[in-house]
Amino acid sequence: MRNTFLLLLLVFTVPVNSSLLESLRPESEVSKERIEDAVRYQLELGPRVPGSDGARNFQKWIISLYEQSDVWNAYLLPFTYKGINVANILITRNGTEFPRYLIGAHYDSRARATQEDPDVPVTGANDGASGVAAIIEMTSLLSAYDSSDIGFLLIDAEDQGYDGKGFGIDGWDWIAGSTYFVENLDQEKLNKLEYFILLDMIGNPDLVLEYEGYSTDWLKEDVWEYARSLGYNNTFIPEYGVSLIDDHRPFLDYSIDAIDIIDFSGYKEWHTTKDTMDSISIDSIAIVTDVVTNYLISSLGLEKITSSEDIMITSFPTLSSNSENAPFPLSAFFTIFVMAVVIRSRRSLVNL
Ligand SMILES: [Zn+2]
Repeated sequence: MRNTFLLLLLVFTVPVNSSLLESLRPESEVSKERIEDAVRYQLELGPRVPGSDGARNFQKWIISLYEQSDVWNAYLLPFTYKGINVANILITRNGTEFPRYLIGAHYDSRARATQEDPDVPVTGANDGASGVAAIIEMTSLLSAYDSSDIGFLLIDAEDQGYDGKGFGIDGWDWIAGSTYFVENLDQEKLNKLEYFILLDMIGNPDLVLEYEGYSTDWLKEDVWEYARSLGYNNTFIPEYGVSLIDDHRPFLDYSIDAIDIIDFSGYKEWHTTKDTMDSISIDSIAIVTDVVTNYLISSLGLEKITSSEDIMITSFPTLSSNSENAPFPLSAFFTIFVMAVVIRSRRSLVNL
């Protein structure tokens, strides 16, 4: 009896996925190097908390990245949420005002690591940067295809709601950015949009992707079946997992088909200070990038129109020396001090 118990204990303590971990298919065109660069650079920007320098520098970087592109355009869509300036970013191909198929990821990182230390912001390697890196790589790959019906949405203000232990930002709701985006689409755009695919927290080293409960049935079944046809049978599991408030929900509320590709349960560093580069796997992000990119190419019958890709990750601006990044430049203090002295002395003169 005791032996049986010990044996059972052994069976259950062997890491379940250790022998099942998958890598990117060797024949895939996805570049793990570019994905890694894109994650690292986002982390170098610092926390991308809504309204912060990190978020503004992220927006500047994305806009400048796509200004260099011959194929894609990025549009900043600013708005105010609870007094804070935030902005979604829409990426479409030249000549396309609004896409038929939209792929999205949130780029904001949580202002407080509420599951561990609420005084520290979350770095957001997985919870934020992973989905963005996948999207940047997808634009590089799809630039070689007739992908004018496809667009991308980088979403602000997703991750600041109450997570059971605290708020990211006091009094904020979840998914404020995607809610604003969908609520402000006119009828013509709503009619045009066929579906929305959300990529969130796709960098877990033991990535296990189950069906998210609210996601549209036909689309999740289609994507999961496609992933398995590529051989990712241990990553894409066609069984029900969690149901979540996430950026796909506003689309569903407006009767647009939408799915959430997320590994929520498996990431123990969620909303802690340990959501860093060391806790994620570039292979995992690359697998999801491979699946979604080739699902679009295959299911929409996209034609290859050029052999050369328009690679987005070419350079990373140095933002650390940018004076806008500093909390408050010393020279500004000096100027204000001099002005105050001048004003004070003039006032004294008038008073006299
Ligand atoms: Zn989060």
